[in-house]
Amino acid sequence: MIPFRETYRDIPLYSPAKKPCRVDLSDNTNLFGAPPSADRVLREEGFLRLSRYPAGYAPDLKRAVATYAGVAVENVTTGCGSDDVIDCALRAFLEPGDAVAFPDPTFVMVPMYARLSALKPVPVPLRADHGLDVDGLLATGAKVIYVCTPNNPTGTVASRAAVERLVDSAPGVVLIDQAYVEFTRGGDFLDLARTRPNVLVTRTMSKAFGLAGLRVGWGAGAPSLVAEVEKARGPYKHTALGEAVAVAALTDDVPWMEACAAEAVENRERLRGALKALGLEPLPSEGNFLLVPVPEARWVGEALRERNVNVRVFEGLTGVGDALRIGCGPWPMMASALKALKEVL
Ligand code: PMP
Repeated sequence: MIPFRETYRDIPLYSPAKKPCRVDLSDNTNLFGAPPSADRVLREEGFLRLSRYPAGYAPDLKRAVATYAGVAVENVTTGCGSDDVIDCALRAFLEPGDAVAFPDPTFVMVPMYARLSALKPVPVPLRADHGLDVDGLLATGAKVIYVCTPNNPTGTVASRAAVERLVDSAPGVVLIDQAYVEFTRGGDFLDLARTRPNVLVTRTMSKAFGLAGLRVGWGAGAPSLVAEVEKARGPYKHTALGEAVAVAALTDDVPWMEACAAEAVENRERLRGALKALGLEPLPSEGNFLLVPVPEARWVGEALRERNVNVRVFEGLTGVGDALRIGCGPWPMMASALKALKEVL
């Protein structure tokens, strides 16, 4: 018998069931497509970049992120998706056996990455109003506290007062995942990343920026904190193409991104109204998705897939129960989802 790693014995491969569907609303990506500059960069430079390695630590991407985010280059770290930045941050700031605290429910990969680094995941239920239980999170004593705002899968946001109290009193790093911040009104915590020694904000090119296929994410925080995350990640984690396209999108396509985000938000609210008219009660969302509690969500999800509509199914979410998470984008896609839901419910 090969002596595989003991801590991995009970960890399954993460692989959500996914059947190809004509309308896929399951992953909160930009359903309007990829940014226009991507087409130009891939056609003009793509092939030429293939034969050489990219620079080790993505200097061009860091510069583009710094300009976009209004931070210094030394405040920026990057990764193969923000997944990678989160994973590296957990490894950088915690020793095996240490606890990482997070609200429950939240982004499913956080407890997963915790376990993969032999850390102890400590979920702390969100309050009944979906706000953060700041005292509960602090009481864990965890040296990394993860907070996601807008939160996946609820779509709800953490208040500034709650986040600031957490940051003021946390014994270690507060990791603020803002993968969906482009869809919010305000609610951006980059100012804390700039001014506090213990805050790392993570962001992504996968959602509003429409580049999920390239796997580019970034984080911002104090230079000393960012330097540790860079060590944990190591060099060469971007492709040359991913870096070039992300730089172009951050430089040229912010107005495009903002227009897509505004339309996704408008359609989210229209969909919310239509779902309420069906007697459903979607949670208030500031992301590009709605969480809709429904009994027997697994069965409903299957029935929707049979009608070529894929949404994300959650079973037994803390404080919510079974629910569907529906990504929002162009109205014809929302109309297909609504039609299928009316047939199924
Ligand atoms: N954070 C949250 C809250 C997410 O929902 C996701 C994607 N599902 C990520 C981070 C990771 O995205 P990526 O690795 O594509 O940047």
